[in-house]
This record gives sequence, C-alpha cells and structure tokens, in this order.
Amino acid sequence: MEKIHFATQLWIGDDALSELQTMQGKKIFIVTDPFIAESGLTAQITDQLTGSEYFIFSDIVPDPPVEKVIAGIQAMSSFGADTIIAIGGGSAIDAAKAMKYFGKRTMDLAIEQFIAIPTTSGTGSEVTNFAVITMADTATKYPLVTDEIQPDIAVLDTNLVMSVPPKVTADTGMDVLTHVIEAYVSTNANGVADAFCEKVVKLVFDNLESAYKDGSNREARANMHLASCMAGMAFNLASLGLNHGIAHAAGARLHVPHGRMNTILLPSVIEFNANVNQGVLQENAVAKRYMALANCIGTTTTNPRIGVQNLIRAIKQLRQRLNMPATLSEFGLAKADVLAQKTEIATAALADACTETNPRTPSIHEIETLLEEIS
Ligand code: NAD
Repeated sequence: MEKIHFATQLWIGDDALSELQTMQGKKIFIVTDPFIAESGLTAQITDQLTGSEYFIFSDIVPDPPVEKVIAGIQAMSSFGADTIIAIGGGSAIDAAKAMKYFGKRTMDLAIEQFIAIPTTSGTGSEVTNFAVITMADTATKYPLVTDEIQPDIAVLDTNLVMSVPPKVTADTGMDVLTHVIEAYVSTNANGVADAFCEKVVKLVFDNLESAYKDGSNREARANMHLASCMAGMAFNLASLGLNHGIAHAAGARLHVPHGRMNTILLPSVIEFNANVNQGVLQENAVAKRYMALANCIGTTTTNPRIGVQNLIRAIKQLRQRLNMPATLSEFGLAKADVLAQKTEIATAALADACTETNPRTPSIHEIETLLEEIS
C-alpha cells in the first residue's frame, strides 16, 4: 500500500501575499538573502505583516553553508520566534528548513508554522521535505530529508519571479526539468508523481525558453513557477536519482550553480540509465519510461531507443537555445582540475541519498566515466 499525503497548503495567485495579513500576534523570523532583502521583494512580504512582529535574517548565500544555519538559529532564539517565513530561491528556503530542524534539537526552539515563498522557479523546495546544506570544510552538500522540514504553506506569486535574470532563469528552469526526468524513472516512481512529471515536462519545453528570452513574459513565468512547484511535489513522492547525486557531490567541490551542473549531466546520465545496448530493447523498462516522456513533448515513437534519443536531442537543443554549457570545460573549469577530483566526487555521489533511487545502480568506475564524459 502507498500512503500519499500533501502536507503543504498552496496559496497561488497575484493576491496570495495579502493572505499573510491574517497572521496576528506572531513572532516571525524571516530568512532570505541580501539581494532579496535589498531589492524590495522582502518589503512586499513585510508590508503584509501588520499584526505581527518580525525579524529579517538576510545573510543566506547560494548553496547555504552550515555556519549560516548556526548563525540563523542563534538569531532565531534571541528573537524568540514562533513562525518562520523563508523568502528566496532554494538556498534561503533550504537554510530556513535546516534552522527549524536543528533549532529544535540544539536550542529546543518550537516553530509553530513554516511558510515558504519562492522567488525562483527551480527547486520546488517550497513543497518538499528535502533541504541541501553545504559543509564547506569537507566540500560536501548534505541532503537533509525529513517530514519535519516540510513547509506548512507555500505561497506562489508570479510577481516575485519577474526579476530573475536570464542565467538564473535558465539554470533554475533546467533544474525543474531534471527533477521530473529523475522522478519519472526513479525506483520509487508512482502513478501520482507520473501525472505531475508528464505535465511539467511539457510546461518546461513550452515556456522556459520564452521566460529566458523575455523575462517580462508573465504567462511563461507563471507556467514555470507552477511547473517548479509541481516538480517538487513529484520528487517529494518519487525521489530523485544519480543526476542529483553527482550534482550535489560535484557542485560542492567545483562551485557550479546547481541547475547548470544538473543540465551538463542530464544527457549523459539518461544515456547511462537507459543502457539501450544491453538486453532486449522492448524489455528495457527505463528506456520505455524515457520514451514516454519524450512522447509528452510532441514526438511519437514506439521504439525505446529512438525515444531515448529524442529526449536527449530535445534536452541538448533546449540547453543550446538557453546558451548553457554542454561540458564543465565550456563552463570554464580546467579538465585536469575536474579529473583530479573524479574519484572523490564519484565516491560522494555514490553515498548521496538521491543516488539510492536511481533506476540503474552505478559503480564508482561508471560515475568516474560519466565525469570524464562531461569534463
Ligand atoms: P539560489 O536560491 O541560490 O538563488 C540564486 C541567485 O538568484 C541568488 O543570487 C539570488 O539572490 C538570486 N535570486 C533569487 N530570486 C531572485 C529574483 N526574484 N530576482 C532576482 N534574483 C533572484 O538558487 P536556486 O536555484 O533557487 O536554489 C539552489 C539551491 O537549492 C542549491 O543549494 C540546491 O542544492 C538547492 N536545492 C534544493 C532542493 C530542495 O528540494 N530543497 C531541490 C533542488 C535544489
């Protein structure tokens, strides 16, 4: 039996923020990054908090390190917070999740309500029980997975993503695509998550390029924001795979933005998972799943090998139209530097929680080969 429970309430729409006015007499700890705090986006939220006290902690940096989490817990304790509002991309939301989780354990902080307000359309963190925290000293990204960090409320307001610059739009949008492709072939895949994946893959191919080329395209932005949230719901149910396992391990060491690292890896990981030259093709369940996703974006084939090729081709073409690098060298890293770390990265990727649900179990040597391919 499967039990499916969506614990996060969604508030969606241009007027969704005004619902925050119903919060009265709360002590609200706001977690965000310096850009969001200074850009006026945070003010759009604090303007609504007329009946409550709030404190803004705006020190979050991309790929939030554990030190920021510790500093946040101390500030949260001094303020006496009973509510957290995280405003920002995945970095701010994930840091707030870790503050809630470790704040309870280290300082007995009891948070009654956790609200996540995404300002990027990428991680889906506003609806997941998943957070990624970086340990700078060991250069590792640590996925924290527990229902305790699932936001109570996620607020989706397209106005908050209109200012996302093109490069971040591309990176985060391709992160959305990676989430659904991995969830669809995960060993935990299920019919409910499948429905989100099939819808999201189409939304991404129909809207990401438009949002990238014209950031003022409201419809494309709104569709990508919804796609990001639905992708989060999908992988919260079905989990992810090797692509994210390697992206966590490599991203922490090589300092490549998360979505761009996923995108560089995606064609090679699909090819590895599909493994179309082994066994009887018509019995290759993973290749057939990739074929089904490719058919969601307009191709029609019943041949799994062609389906896999169609999906990989479509991803490569989209990546090119978004002016994204195809290799780590194109991103600007020296091949020798990447290869010098390949065993360390492969070992960490194998131990990453996301890799556990990959449809094909990789060896360290196979992950090293993938890293050689993308370097
Ligand atoms: P991010 O939060 O690091 O933000 C990237 C940049 O965009 C920052 O400089 C930020 O200031 C800027 N930005 C954010 N909103 C903006 C806006 N509206 N206008 C202009 N600039 C804006 O990026 P992200 O991709 O959203 O999050 C990445 C992090 O999330 C990584 O640490 C990754 O590992 C993690 N992650 C988490 C999950 C999850 O389920 N929790 C899933 C995938 C990735």
